[in-house]
Amino acid sequence: MSGTHIEWKDDAYVVPNDPVIPFIEGDGIGPDIWRAARHVFDQAVARTYGGERQIVWKEILAGEKAQKQTGEWLPQATLDAIREYRVAIKGPLTTPVGGGIRSLNVSLRQLLDLYACVRPVRWLKGVPSPVKNPNSMNVVIFRENLEDVYAGIEYEAGSDAADQVRRFLVDNFSAEIDEGSAIGIKPMSARNSKRLVSKAIRFALARGRDSVTLVHKGNIMKFTEGAFRDWGYEVAKERFGDKTISEADYWKDNPEGGAGDGRVIIKDRIADSMFQQVLLRPAEYAILATPNLNGDYLSDACAAQVGGLGMAPGGNIGDGVALFEATHGTAPKYAGQDKVNPSSLILSGVMMLEEIGWDEAAAAIVSGLERAIGDRTVTYDLARQMHGATEVKTSEFAAAVAQHIPTRQ
Ligand code: NAP
Repeated sequence: MSGTHIEWKDDAYVVPNDPVIPFIEGDGIGPDIWRAARHVFDQAVARTYGGERQIVWKEILAGEKAQKQTGEWLPQATLDAIREYRVAIKGPLTTPVGGGIRSLNVSLRQLLDLYACVRPVRWLKGVPSPVKNPNSMNVVIFRENLEDVYAGIEYEAGSDAADQVRRFLVDNFSAEIDEGSAIGIKPMSARNSKRLVSKAIRFALARGRDSVTLVHKGNIMKFTEGAFRDWGYEVAKERFGDKTISEADYWKDNPEGGAGDGRVIIKDRIADSMFQQVLLRPAEYAILATPNLNGDYLSDACAAQVGGLGMAPGGNIGDGVALFEATHGTAPKYAGQDKVNPSSLILSGVMMLEEIGWDEAAAAIVSGLERAIGDRTVTYDLARQMHGATEVKTSEFAAAVAQHIPTRQ
């Protein structure tokens, strides 16, 4: 089967019944979890659509496999294929050490302009959790993906460059910086902040979620993080004025609280307070929009409440291009052992199916996962936290999930 391209028209995907979807298997545990996840995706699509729809998988190379076969870590053909086919999925990739090669994941995001890192965090029935009510957590984190301290503009302590930057700031702006300091730069733009917050608001509207919370550290970093908050409120007003309301205006209109009038409430929280909120009052939050670093920390902290990294999916999303990925790394000590949990990649596939509008197949996979975990048939990471669990291999877990996927009548 040769498959058909997914197209992008009027800000939406046009998806054929036989879309070609490129995949990067990944390094380390990548091949194990990809094999498992692909089996689950294919079973879900087959059982949900009865042969009417089918994904045509196309392997593309990155990481160690690409290096071995082509001499390059991230071949141009891989970038071209993701742009051409628009929606792709990947396993984890090793970050090559030394030689001036930057993280492949960061490169993919930058080169493909995937400006939003999207991480849904919700609890699946049966998954062990360190909190009393894991079910109260159901947030989707939209993390800015291209700038902030991740821009990689840093000068080593004692270097000539650091010294020159320091001198410039001291001489021109009376900045107080100790001699010999390391210096990092934190660029944040209205453009990237606004398009990130817009994407978060559009998602809230499409999925019927009631709030978007801007998470920032604007009390300390006024012109970067504070500006992120201001740009967020601005874009909500400019582009979604009739569909959103600020929290302050909401309380004016609804002093007793309550459901509101269906508009998405735009809130903001200081980052440190947000870490408390997701532990103490997670049910009050739906969509979180954050600058890059806050989002990095917050995603993992939230994921820890619902089963950890082995259960946490992610997507790097731009306009008309999206790359879904397991959020954990290559766990090299488990490579080739058929041992680790493939749920992060499986749930990333659930996000991918939702992104292309195949919601029924996505829901069928979640149901299969919940039933397998409910049976306590799990991989080692969950088994060590559960009483009476049966520990199974990656492939056996995938088979159990697939077996539990309901057939649509
Ligand atoms: P890691 O690969 O995520 O592994 C850290 C630990 O997390 C593992 O030892 C294991 O814990 C647990 N873990 C990870 N994946 C799991 C899974 N699927 N099921 C169950 N447990 C899982 O982090 P790392 O060791 O720091 O990084 C290794 C390499 O991955 C590095 O080259 C790094 O650059 C790369 N990396 C890639 C990505 C990406 O491609 N998106 C992300 C992060 C890191 P236990 O030891 O407790 O069993």
